[in-house]
Amino acid sequence: MAERAPVDPGGPVHPVDTAGSVDPAGPAGPAGPVDPVELADPGEAAAEAALRPHTLGEFVGQRRVWEQLSVLLDGSRSRGVPPEHLLLAGPPGLGKTTLAMIVAAELGRPLRITSGPVIQHAGELASILSNVTEGEVLFVDEIHRMSRPAEETLYLAMEDFRVDVVVGRGPGATSIPLDIPRFTLVGATTRAGLLPGPLRDRFGFTAQLDYYDDAELAVILARSAGLLGLALAPAAAAEIAGRSRGTPRVANRLLRRVRDWAEVRGGGTLDLDATAAALELYEVDARGLDRLDRAVLDALCRRFGGGPVGLSTLAVSVGEETETVEGVVEPFLLREGLLVRTPRGRLATSAAFAHLGLDPQAAGRLL
Ligand code: ADP
Repeated sequence: MAERAPVDPGGPVHPVDTAGSVDPAGPAGPAGPVDPVELADPGEAAAEAALRPHTLGEFVGQRRVWEQLSVLLDGSRSRGVPPEHLLLAGPPGLGKTTLAMIVAAELGRPLRITSGPVIQHAGELASILSNVTEGEVLFVDEIHRMSRPAEETLYLAMEDFRVDVVVGRGPGATSIPLDIPRFTLVGATTRAGLLPGPLRDRFGFTAQLDYYDDAELAVILARSAGLLGLALAPAAAAEIAGRSRGTPRVANRLLRRVRDWAEVRGGGTLDLDATAAALELYEVDARGLDRLDRAVLDALCRRFGGGPVGLSTLAVSVGEETETVEGVVEPFLLREGLLVRTPRGRLATSAAFAHLGLDPQAAGRLL
């Protein structure tokens, strides 16, 4: 995303959009789930950048995608031509930006970073494209949020390596076709289903990233701890992994919170006790639910007796944007089997009542 500090991927990095050009606190737009981490301060972004793997070898998990990318990159290197455009799909924090940077680094090519929400006019994209160099990797994060006119410009560039530059205004405007060097577009999206067919079809390959299992997250945490110079006990790594919602970004963030607690309150030891105490302080429960997740679940179970209740009513009752509840909270609760979506609204499962320590019968009578 725009506010992330780019890491040197092996060639020059051109962050096309300046930090802050996307309003990080603004609405997610019609299609965008809000990643709460994207709202974090720039310090968090820098801390995150410091933990990014730089090579495919350092990238943990996602074995299928890993193999697919490895073949793609080897093929490109041996033929001496840039790889086909590739689309990285999956929820926030699973490594899409990291992989885009790795692709550029592995190919020894420059990387240019931009994102869908900042490309609202075809002209903005044309100006980015007319500056790409041979073999450059152009990373467009949140590509599903690009404007329609910009998409059309992108189709031409992806397929024919050409942009139509419009000169002049009004009826006298003419469009001059400009050949551009062969580049590789790496698109990232949290909502592959929202991409128009013609755009999806122009990617040579789509990599679908999945949530990580606890063992993979423990490896990521051990690596991060090493980079931060921390002695993380294996039991603590396993505990943090279990509360990380299958997401490396969350795992690394929780690690930093445990480190903070251990340094200030715990004598510097990152063990199981420090982990439990720190995560209790930061209100991350044993299953990885945070304050907002629990507030939603609590409202659903207690106030609405388990549902069914409409999404917007649920969001209002916890004082949150509908997009945040739908895009951030719900996917996790669904995945955990705590909530189900029905045509009549959201329903809590018996596991949700159990997680909150409630009796479904008694809770129903609270209505
Ligand atoms: P996305 O672009 O999908 O939102 P990022 O690529 O920004 O996610 O990754 C978020 C953080 O998680 C980064 O700091 C990165 O270091 C870490 N991370 C993601 N995937 C991995 C992985 N497979 N191995 C190690 N660290 C990872």
